[in-house]
Amino acid sequence: MSDKEELECSFCKRKKDETNLLIAGVDAHICDKCIEQAHGIVLEESILEKDKTSSEFSVKKPIEIKDFLDQYIIGQNQAKKVMAVAVYNHYKRLLQSPSSTSDDIEIEKSNIILVGETGTGKTLIARTIAKMLDVPFAIVDATVLTEAGYVGEDVETILTRLLQAADYKVDKAERGIVFIDEIDKIARKGDNPSITRDVSGEGVQQALLKLLEGTVVNVPPKGGRKHPDQKFVEVNTKDILFIAGGAFSGIDKVISKRLNMQAVGYSASISDDKVDQENLLQYIIPSDLKSFGLIPEIIGRLPSLTFLRPLDKETLRSILTDPKNAIIKQYKKLFEMDGIDFTIDDKALDFIVDKAIEYKLGARGLRSLCEEILTDAMFELPSSEEVKLKVTKKYAEEKISKSTIKKLKAVS
Ligand code: ADP
Repeated sequence: MSDKEELECSFCKRKKDETNLLIAGVDAHICDKCIEQAHGIVLEESILEKDKTSSEFSVKKPIEIKDFLDQYIIGQNQAKKVMAVAVYNHYKRLLQSPSSTSDDIEIEKSNIILVGETGTGKTLIARTIAKMLDVPFAIVDATVLTEAGYVGEDVETILTRLLQAADYKVDKAERGIVFIDEIDKIARKGDNPSITRDVSGEGVQQALLKLLEGTVVNVPPKGGRKHPDQKFVEVNTKDILFIAGGAFSGIDKVISKRLNMQAVGYSASISDDKVDQENLLQYIIPSDLKSFGLIPEIIGRLPSLTFLRPLDKETLRSILTDPKNAIIKQYKKLFEMDGIDFTIDDKALDFIVDKAIEYKLGARGLRSLCEEILTDAMFELPSSEEVKLKVTKKYAEEKISKSTIKKLKAVS
């Protein structure tokens, strides 16, 4: 018998010819399979370690949270401030060890509700917070939710999304963030007598309540009712941060009515301070949401209420170029990868903003407009000798006049 045949992996005892590779150490050998397995264990351990430290130590102070948000979100200072405090308190609550609650002071959850027109950055704020905290993040649309038994998605499927975002790691999901979009669409339609059964209204709010306050939910990991035989996973929602968002269109009338009544009732109060009629949302208080049709219990479970301002010209212009991953910076990078130096002049940028306003496309329209302007160049330049692209207002005008983007106007 030769020495060669004797060689084996000291870990799994596989003989050398059963392995692809056998590496010799001082007194031992290790095969490729064991190396891979060991590497997997090392990775897993380091992730666990990171999880531990990130949950214990990486909670930023409110000012740091706002600084982080500032890098990605233009304006909306009040909303960013309220968010920063709510998120900070939420994570302080998580750090509160069970023993420290012996003084009976239990910090309640600080779920958040953001009110503002579509496209003003509600989702962006929620997503950015999740990115900063490095926690799983899921977006759900409240309009698809229904009470159990009706056609649509049960409220539990909200957590299915979160579980998926957490790679099915329950403990991670239990510290995640859920953004519930269009919460205003499940407002009670109380004044409409023709609605006999409010399928997507109050019933859904009731179902959401439990989730918001914290409960153990049996979650179908694959979601929906299409997989009836799947095993449910238990998820506790007590440490999940819920951020709800909605446009609440028409709520300005509710606010205005309330302000007028206050002005009459307490003649000295509001009427003395100038009311900014252009942006009444800034005066929003929880009872306005109640008048709009949210049930008081839901409002109580979303204690941090804040608003987002409509985006003006200046903000839109800044969104194009200033955030850390601003649209123009992204195009610059894309062209750079083909060795092309892309520049766009101020007049062209102003033109894009004007068109976004004219077509009522908001911030979302900025990207569509840029796509329309740059698609030809992105198609042709990589195969050409060109190393420069300078977009002027004239260039932008030409591309837009040929495009079909005006059709978007009709859609929006
Ligand atoms: P909402 O959830 O309020 O409808 P989004 O957060 O989805 O709006 O915003 C749509 C897009 O508009 C975002 O992806 C982002 O590119 C841009 N945007 C909106 N508001 C801002 C802002 N304040 N700062 C930077 N970008 C913004």
